[in-house]
Amino acid sequence: MIVADQKPIEDIKKMLRGKKKVLAIGCGTCVAVCFAGGKREVGVLSSALRMATELDSEPVQIDEAIVQRQCEKEFIEHLGNQLEEYDAVLSLGCGVGVQSLADHYPTTRILPGLNTKFMGGPTEQGVWEERCQGCGNCLLEHTGGICPITRCAKQLMNGPCGGTDEGGRCEVDADTPCAWFDIWERMDALELQDELMQIHPPKDWSTSRDGGRRKIVRKDLQKPSIEGDS
Ligand code: SF4
Ligand code: SF4
Repeated sequence: MIVADQKPIEDIKKMLRGKKKVLAIGCGTCVAVCFAGGKREVGVLSSALRMATELDSEPVQIDEAIVQRQCEKEFIEHLGNQLEEYDAVLSLGCGVGVQSLADHYPTTRILPGLNTKFMGGPTEQGVWEERCQGCGNCLLEHTGGICPITRCAKQLMNGPCGGTDEGGRCEVDADTPCAWFDIWERMDALELQDELMQIHPPKDWSTSRDGGRRKIVRKDLQKPSIEGDS
């Protein structure tokens, strides 16, 4: 899932300066699961903003709404004309949600209430960790399901750097397990350590982040074009 964190309230207050009426919109999917932008967080943040702006003698009316998924237009198009009565929308969706709202409502000021962090998941109560950087060419079949791009501090692709401590911790951060130590242990548990000795060609990074916006086109899911359309 996409993991995000609320912006500091001072930063949000700065964004709202001069606004009289704002709609805070949460998202009921990833950011609700990581307790950053769900219904409850919209309520708590809205109350805090009302109080804080009141205390500053610049009160802002904050109304609240929640949609199931801000990143899909089917879930946001019902907001429609309602947005015109607001000076701004404070999105508590991830960066994708903020941009979907801004694309769909280009004449409405859409402001980000969250800092979007990474793709990951919870590892214990109250802790989320990054697990994937969306390289577009997954190699987890070679590494026992542990991503060295995301979990090795140096993104090493061919084994450990030599700095791993005796407990299997990364030399860059003693709180972080060495990804390659873990890969070795996992492959051992799978009785696949021999595979780690195989030589692979250099990774194809052309599918990764650099080079601008990426997209997936699934022709089997696209609407059939109507004859005569250009
Ligand atoms: S190899 Fe690429 S796609 Fe697979 S988990 Fe790592 S970053 Fe994500
Ligand atoms: S100690 Fe392990 S995780 Fe840390 S940089 Fe070296 S190989 Fe990567």
